[in-house]
Amino acid sequence: MSAPHTSSWPGVIQRYAEHLPVTAATPIVTLLEGNTPLIRAPQFVEAIGGRFELYLKYEGLNPTCSFKDRGMTLAVSKAKERGAEIVVCASTGNTSASAAAYAARAKMRCVVLLPNGKIALGKLAQALMYGATTLAIEGNFDQALQIVRELGETGKVEVVNSINPVRIEGQKTAAFEICDALGDAPDFHFLPVGNAGNITAYWRGYREYQMAGKSDTLPRMCGWQAAGAAPIVDGHPIEHPNTVATAIRIGNPASWQGATNAVSESGGLIDKVTDEEILHAYKLLARTEGVFVEPACAAPLAGLIKAIERQLIPDGSLVAATMTGHGLKDPDTALKTAGFEPIIVAPERDAVMRVIGL
Ligand SMILES: *Cc1c(COP(=O)(O)O)cnc(C)c1O
Repeated sequence: MSAPHTSSWPGVIQRYAEHLPVTAATPIVTLLEGNTPLIRAPQFVEAIGGRFELYLKYEGLNPTCSFKDRGMTLAVSKAKERGAEIVVCASTGNTSASAAAYAARAKMRCVVLLPNGKIALGKLAQALMYGATTLAIEGNFDQALQIVRELGETGKVEVVNSINPVRIEGQKTAAFEICDALGDAPDFHFLPVGNAGNITAYWRGYREYQMAGKSDTLPRMCGWQAAGAAPIVDGHPIEHPNTVATAIRIGNPASWQGATNAVSESGGLIDKVTDEEILHAYKLLARTEGVFVEPACAAPLAGLIKAIERQLIPDGSLVAATMTGHGLKDPDTALKTAGFEPIIVAPERDAVMRVIGL
């Protein structure tokens, strides 16, 4: 079962095999995903006026720069075990980047369906570089996912969206890592919600670790949607979802029920934040902590600001927040949000001194 690797971290399947649906016969397709840093963010908390401890689970440091790799290593390994030759997904970008990478590693063909024009630049570059057959659907994510479901019914392809239950199994390992790092679960867990697979996965992970005796407590799960794409908060599917946070631009989440269960069973909440609030928190995190994330990650950060206003977080609480993807995924939004441009200057010391005020 163990493939040669060059780091002491073997990837999430080997690390957490006892909690995952694998056997000695499963061919493990891994890029050594997982083991991402849990970064304390006291300066961000101070800037937003909080009085709690915040830890950021920085999933942008996975091999394809998002948390999707945790589920994809398992989905592609199980597909290979079954002898599948083609993996297919609909994606707002990161699932396609991850599927394309793991398929390349598994010597499988990958087909991705993306909403035309609504994919962050870095994610599109990844799908193309890893060699996936890349289709830009003239429609939104929900329509692309519907087509993928129908392709799956032909039995000719392996669907690696989070409607594939194995994806959720792999993603729950992030909750294990947080418990391993903190010694127990946090009091609150904040994260963005799009298709709602990740909130479902974290809640499952926290509960399974507790049942296995590896942690004692459970967090309150707090999910955040973008105001223009908030079907769960609004209580009905959104036909034309819209938000700057393209990773969560989803109007009819596949794991809707999983999200509402996680929230009600944990005593948590699900709510929404505007694009303006998202972009404010996005920039504030980069400036106060040097942590650059993609816009979707800023939804739970904006949510923290709301939670402080509503006095939902007792002083001294331990809060974890998942930073689902790396900031470099979406350079266009970063350049627009930064608020200034490089200063053009003559190639002379004096000119540089003048500009920087020395
Ligand atoms: C996929 C994704 C999300 C949403 O996760 P769901 O499991 O679909 O709720 C959030 N942020 C980023 C960066 C993503 O890639």
